[in-house]
Amino acid sequence: MAEILVLVDHVDGSVKKVTLELLTLARSLGEPSAVFVGSGADAAAATLAEYGAGTVYVADAADLTDHVVAPKAALLAQLVAEKAPAAVLIASTAEGKEIAGRLAVKANSGVITDAVGVSPELVATQSIFGGSTIVKSKVSTGTPIITVRPNSTAPEAAPAAGTRADVSVSLTPVDTAAKITDRVKEEKGARPELSEAAIVVSGGRGVGGPEGFELMEKLADALGGAVGASRAATDAGWYPHQYQVGQTGKTVSPQLYIANGISGAIQHRAGMQTSKTIIVVNKDPEAPIFELADYGVVGDLFDVVPQLIEEIDKRKG
Ligand SMILES: Cc1cc2nc3c(=O)[nH]c(=O)nc-3n(C[C@H](O)[C@H](O)[C@H](O)COP(=O)(O)OP(=O)(O)OC[C@H]3O[C@@H](n4cnc5c(N)ncnc54)[C@H](O)[C@@H]3O)c2cc1C
Repeated sequence: MAEILVLVDHVDGSVKKVTLELLTLARSLGEPSAVFVGSGADAAAATLAEYGAGTVYVADAADLTDHVVAPKAALLAQLVAEKAPAAVLIASTAEGKEIAGRLAVKANSGVITDAVGVSPELVATQSIFGGSTIVKSKVSTGTPIITVRPNSTAPEAAPAAGTRADVSVSLTPVDTAAKITDRVKEEKGARPELSEAAIVVSGGRGVGGPEGFELMEKLADALGGAVGASRAATDAGWYPHQYQVGQTGKTVSPQLYIANGISGAIQHRAGMQTSKTIIVVNKDPEAPIFELADYGVVGDLFDVVPQLIEEIDKRKG
């Protein structure tokens, strides 16, 4: 079976859920091999094998992690040349998409970004124009390089050998031109990371101010989800910008997205329309967001959300 390379997204060896999703998807396309860059490969090995990586290529040189994204693209380009895989799968994060673009140039291959599915024939599905159009496309030149949105596939374990193969790459001055001088750890609360969360509770201008987001947080915590926000809310300074969902914010594709007091502008939809189930709470029955809703409640969120939290708490006992 053809080899499918999966670039591992991790923090110090702690593998992100999206990588397990990519390995699961890769198993339907061929034989997955993980590409692990940086330190912590030993900690990651068991998880990568559990989710189906037959081989784990490990590149642990400081040069690869001290220089933003270019060295990772160089390493992948070398592996593509040496192993001739059937495809390369990368998480559709800001970093993942930049690596994919650079890799495509180096490998003289086509690239597809923001896929929400890939068929065994390597036809990728994208959802564009605010979800109004579904595009099916296939790379016709070189090795297909496809970035896949988090939460597009349910991760399923299927143990494989996970044989470690150490690899190295010689980098050019261009690859190492941009140096990382400092790393600051983001303060992480108990909530899941927004783009990876299975449940996202978002608030818009309708929440009325920063205190409205306390209610969003309460609902998110009752459900074990993350909090998101519309740009109107982040621009007003009611919630930090890193939680903005949409065209100029994060793209999310959770199992459940709850939009509270959000009208559904095209730029907001662009970041959430591939969510599996969408619940809308809005007091305006004409709000365009209802077009996307699987379940909609026409009402004041300050009436609806507290009742929702109460009911969830009751059911949880
Ligand atoms: C280039 C560009 C990029 C952009 N990128 C983004 C982006 O990434 N993300 C993004 O979100 N936007 C983005 N925008 C902005 C976007 O166009 C909208 O202005 C924004 O999404 C509106 O946010 P909102 O829905 O919270 O506010 P509004 O459009 O003002 O909607 C508020 C909604 O709350 C409802 N409401 C009010 N009070 C209550 C209540 N008590 N209970 C229930 N419902 C209530 C109202 O009925 C209304 O539907 C971008 C715009 C541009 C031009």
